Amino acid sequence: METQNKGVISLVVPCYNETQALPLFMAEVQRVIALMPDVTAEVILVNDGSSDDTLAMMREMKKQYGFVRYLSFSRNFGKESAILAGLSAAKGDWAAVMDADLQDPPSLLPEMLRAIREEGYDCVGTCRTTRKGEPPIRSFFARCFYKFINRMSDTKLVDGARDYKLLSRPAVDALIAMPEVNRFSKGLYEWIGFRTKWLEFENVERVAGETKWSFWKLFKYSIEGIVSFSTMPLLISTFIGLIFMLISIATMVTLAVRQVLYHNSVDGWTSMVCIILLVSGVQLFCLGLMGQYMAKMYTEIKRRPHYIISEQSE
Ligand code: UDP
Ligand code: MG
Repeated sequence: METQNKGVISLVVPCYNETQALPLFMAEVQRVIALMPDVTAEVILVNDGSSDDTLAMMREMKKQYGFVRYLSFSRNFGKESAILAGLSAAKGDWAAVMDADLQDPPSLLPEMLRAIREEGYDCVGTCRTTRKGEPPIRSFFARCFYKFINRMSDTKLVDGARDYKLLSRPAVDALIAMPEVNRFSKGLYEWIGFRTKWLEFENVERVAGETKWSFWKLFKYSIEGIVSFSTMPLLISTFIGLIFMLISIATMVTLAVRQVLYHNSVDGWTSMVCIILLVSGVQLFCLGLMGQYMAKMYTEIKRRPHYIISEQSE
């Protein structure tokens, strides 16, 4: 590969059951690459343990397009692991992460590259101006999530930001160097810093196949984001616990005084039950919160690899 004066751009594409979308994606990518004669391109397809013929399709794509390389995981490790594997394999001076379903338009690439090469940015992010074509309930919860996490965490996330991003080599190296198992790319992208330009585009619906993200999967992912990038929930739970402790001390004093003066403590039974229920509820809530962080520590401490590659092209 000629690296001297041209520069290499790597496109990292996580694929999970994308047999239908891949050929369309590659055709579009080839069209866009032809528009950038001043760079050499490589495409790294990462098969995230697909259960359909995605791997066979990748071998096919490799035969058809000279600039394709692929990796295949031994099972489904999730999009975050696929991104990490792709970025680690990327040899380019710049690397872009993009979905296989053409929801991240490759046609933006020339403009993104220009921003890095000529305007002096390190990264170019993309964000959707609309959430057209998405179920309204999903958009609603997504908006709530961004409001919540931006209030909780010092790492600010842009609502509508996609994982589609062009990164310069130093940014790629910084991302790969982060060893955590629980990866939340949107947060990691922000955390590493670097001068970032944002490009906006209108939401595009996927060309073929179906979304791999169920509501439940997205919910788990959002908890992951909050727990990975903020310890504020722990603080809140401590605070709530403290308030309830104070209330219960005050109640005990009042009840004791009442008993000494009037000897009628049985009257308080109803309120006691209410308080016990409330306090035990709060305790469970706090314990659950702690548990979330403990679980994260547990998975981090095991130091298991992020993914296992079962097949790889050269
Ligand atoms: N993906 C993946 N592993 C998974 C789920 C998804 O590699 O476990 C890939 C998928 O093939 C696609 C990208 O992540 O290239 C985004 O997925 P999708 O389009 O289904 O998500 P949506 O755009 O609906 O949020
Ligand atoms: Mg998609």
